[in-house]
Amino acid sequence: MAIERTFSMIKPDATARNLTGAINAKIEASGLKIIAQKRVHWSTGHAQKFYEVHKARPFYNDLVKFMTSGPIVLQVLEGENAIKKYRDVMGATDPAKAEAGTIRKEFAENIERNSAHGSDSVENAAAEIALNFAGFEIVG
Ligand code: GDP
Repeated sequence: MAIERTFSMIKPDATARNLTGAINAKIEASGLKIIAQKRVHWSTGHAQKFYEVHKARPFYNDLVKFMTSGPIVLQVLEGENAIKKYRDVMGATDPAKAEAGTIRKEFAENIERNSAHGSDSVENAAAEIALNFAGFEIVG
């Protein structure tokens, strides 16, 4: 199995409820390593760029508003099959459909305020890490 890196975010609904440590505990318990982490407040422009693929979807403007409503924690996670593994640790987009024990089942408020983001492909992981950690050398 391949050692991969994935891009992760702890969203504003979770930072507002002091859940950074609880979410990081689930990440680390899964065996994934948090090899980069910073807490930031996104500008509207950056959020629009990050979610550009969703531009045509009805929830795009609400999503941008939500993601700029408070601090978020940006991370790079590393491990075997990290991309799929972190998607499994997060659970389904809609917490009502997420499996027991997942981040979204335990912490998400609803389908939008769903506490966590994780890249969905090798290409997107590389692009999301480049966009959010430009200028930083990430060593595992
Ligand atoms: P993800 O890869 O599981 O995060 O899901 P998507 O890529 O489909 O959607 C990106 C983000 O948009 C989700 O994590 C949610 O925060 C939000 N989102 C997705 N679907 C909906 C929806 O139907 N309504 C609203 N309001 N937000 C949504």
